[in-house]
Amino acid sequence: MEGARFTRVEMRRPDLRFPLPKNFVARLEGQTVVGLGRRAKYLMADLSSGEVLIMHLGMSGSFHVLHGKDANTPGQFHHERGKLGNHDHIVFQMSSGATVTFNDPRRFGFMKIVERGKLDDEPMIASLGPEPLGNAFDAAMLAQACKGKKTSIKAALLDQQNVAGLGNIYVCEALHRSHISPKRMASVVANKKGEPNERTGKLVDAIKAVLQDAIKQGGSSLRDHRQTDGDLGYFQHHFRVYDREGEKCPTPGCGGTIKRIVQTGRSTFFCPVCQK
Ligand SMILES: [Zn+2]
Repeated sequence: MEGARFTRVEMRRPDLRFPLPKNFVARLEGQTVVGLGRRAKYLMADLSSGEVLIMHLGMSGSFHVLHGKDANTPGQFHHERGKLGNHDHIVFQMSSGATVTFNDPRRFGFMKIVERGKLDDEPMIASLGPEPLGNAFDAAMLAQACKGKKTSIKAALLDQQNVAGLGNIYVCEALHRSHISPKRMASVVANKKGEPNERTGKLVDAIKAVLQDAIKQGGSSLRDHRQTDGDLGYFQHHFRVYDREGEKCPTPGCGGTIKRIVQTGRSTFFCPVCQK
């Protein structure tokens, strides 16, 4: 998509989780994607019009990209309409020859178009904490964010205002890798002054490592996740605790059994023996 123009946009329904933006097709067709990026769980295409297309996958959304001879010629769709998935809601035909299809069975995903200059005022963007893989996310920052907090460390890490883009799976995995119990108060990673302790650095390193490992494996395919070429992700085979209730803890010499509890409405998997 980057550097390419939207030659044709097909919108097959008026809404996803929310109604699609006004004049959605007209605001995209003819525009060039001058940059493609991501902030937290929002995918962003910077348009030559000065607007930004924000895309969120929700629970079950995915993009599928077809190139070259598999792709459509502009203005003409390769697939018979009937052969297209029922859940292919939006199709972007790009001048690069790529066809980018957004599929979302449960329709928790959404798309929004905002002026680039007003992006920082978007409530969903403005409140976000730093990127977990960026330099701004470090032990000092995390300790400051968790100082005096009586909420659980699990809930604090899921709070997108503290760190942006961490989901349930990766929080469970990072807490196991750093041997911190998910039931501990968030303040366990800070002293009274909000300075980091030895746990903080370990947790930050574990968060970055688990995300890097997951990216290498193409993400985690539990239900619907697919990579853009349609392949599954494989990180679910490398989970240490997530979805492994009753299994033996993989920490060498631990001997504990993975337990599942519910915290703030979400499943937490952890080892009660080596996570303290
Ligand atoms: Zn253990």
